[in-house]
Amino acid sequence: MLIDIYIITLLFIVGILMGYINRIIAIKMPLKVKEYVNGCDKCNTKYKWYQLIPLLSFILQKGKCPYCKKNISFIYQILEIISGLLFALSYIFYGFSYEMIVMIVLTNLGILIYITDFKYYIILDEPLIFYSILILICKFIFFGYKTFLISVCSGLLIFVFMVVVQFIGNRIFKQESIGGGDIKLSMFFGFLLGVRLSIVSLILGSFLAFPCAVYYSISGVKREIPFGPFLITGLYLVFVFMEPIRNILTILF
Ligand SMILES: [Zn+2]
Repeated sequence: MLIDIYIITLLFIVGILMGYINRIIAIKMPLKVKEYVNGCDKCNTKYKWYQLIPLLSFILQKGKCPYCKKNISFIYQILEIISGLLFALSYIFYGFSYEMIVMIVLTNLGILIYITDFKYYIILDEPLIFYSILILICKFIFFGYKTFLISVCSGLLIFVFMVVVQFIGNRIFKQESIGGGDIKLSMFFGFLLGVRLSIVSLILGSFLAFPCAVYYSISGVKREIPFGPFLITGLYLVFVFMEPIRNILTILF
């Protein structure tokens, strides 16, 4: 019991730290800058190490830059807390297991995609490749080479499926219907969940994006919808509720 509380607290702190690291990667990597030292977005002053402690510095500085006194965005702090909570929940839900690793991978990838897709309309290739390989290695270690091969084929199948959907979508809408990043993300779905559950995730992600699309068209915001955050949320939900969804699929098909 005591050891559980210890592990959960530790995971919460590591989760906040990873949320912070992912935030820096997500903001800096697309800009192709060499320096990854964090500072103020507004006055460009670089922070000292004690001003860079995730969450704690934000609270101690009352949410303001210590130099220009302008407010620091609190959205990133919320993302860091969510990251910490999901890390802790991964152990509470699954203990030390394959599922726990997957939940942590999805949390890291989710934070990255939320920031890069909303901020720059891109999904970074490097983390996607890294986590795809990691998931496939885990499949091999935990379930053997048959599951590994099936997972590889499922990912490739979903990739081809999405390319076809994109081709048809482009013809119908006469513009790019699905981004390249979304297609690569879908391939990751295939590696992780197999074909059937991947398609359920993609459909769920599209439903989740729908209110955002309606909001954009009503409010007259002339920008495309970042699809990645909704897709990864759909994937997360399908992964956490995999058993009931599998049962429903078995009854229906
Ligand atoms: Zn500043």
